[in-house]
Amino acid sequence: MTGNVPTREMNPNLPVTSDEIAADVKRCADAGASVFHIHARDPQQKPTLNPKVFQEIVQKIKAAAPDVIIQLSTGGRAGKDWEDRAAPIRLLPEMGSFTTGSNNLPGMIYENSPQFIEFLAGVFHQTGVKPEIEVFEAGMINNALFLQKKGLLTPPLHFNFVLGAPGAMPGTARNLVFLTDSIPPGSTWTATGIGKAEIPLAAMSIAMGGHVRVGMEDNLFLPDGSPASNAKLTETVVAIANKIGRQIASPDEARALLSLNPQHRDRVKTA
Ligand code: ZN
Repeated sequence: MTGNVPTREMNPNLPVTSDEIAADVKRCADAGASVFHIHARDPQQKPTLNPKVFQEIVQKIKAAAPDVIIQLSTGGRAGKDWEDRAAPIRLLPEMGSFTTGSNNLPGMIYENSPQFIEFLAGVFHQTGVKPEIEVFEAGMINNALFLQKKGLLTPPLHFNFVLGAPGAMPGTARNLVFLTDSIPPGSTWTATGIGKAEIPLAAMSIAMGGHVRVGMEDNLFLPDGSPASNAKLTETVVAIANKIGRQIASPDEARALLSLNPQHRDRVKTA
């Protein structure tokens, strides 16, 4: 919905406050989206890992669109402290994002040391929150399988291939085929293209039988170059899926596809 990098100055459609995020979730849910990857901002639009801000966003999403699946970010742009990055998971959302390795991103190292990813895998394990394994580079799959071997991740695993970020794997068909061939049978997967790769990679993923993530965290423009909104990006991939003959999952169908624990549906701690 928001990510850590975009600002309203870059695109006025960006939802920043809890009210704006909840209203935009509702628009996207009505357009067909079922899983929502959430970042939090402070009043100056700066990324924050403050659990109180996350709780306020979660409460408002639950009021606006009670059925959707909420996935909170543990991304490293908002802070480096291990406990701070784990804090959104301790709120017990149905899902959380989990990057199982390090890579370069514009202007920074996205740092996820072996010690940190083992710690965070332990938090997912203890809480029962379903991790979405964010794969920016192929070795991150191996790191996830190692954590599975240690008993910290439980199959079936769910992977998100994040391609096209400057500093990591480009968003090409060859890379997507290679990565989907590299995960264990029975895993589920989603593709996320950054910038201009967003919609082409989504189209490839839809054609290949995968799932898709789109949104303003990753890309601020529609394919015709006009300013995007989260709802317009959702409508764009829903139209592609419809043309190809792939059906859109409801939130409950997505829960079944992702093997989410039905008892965790409304477990998340609100404000
Ligand atoms: Zn994110």
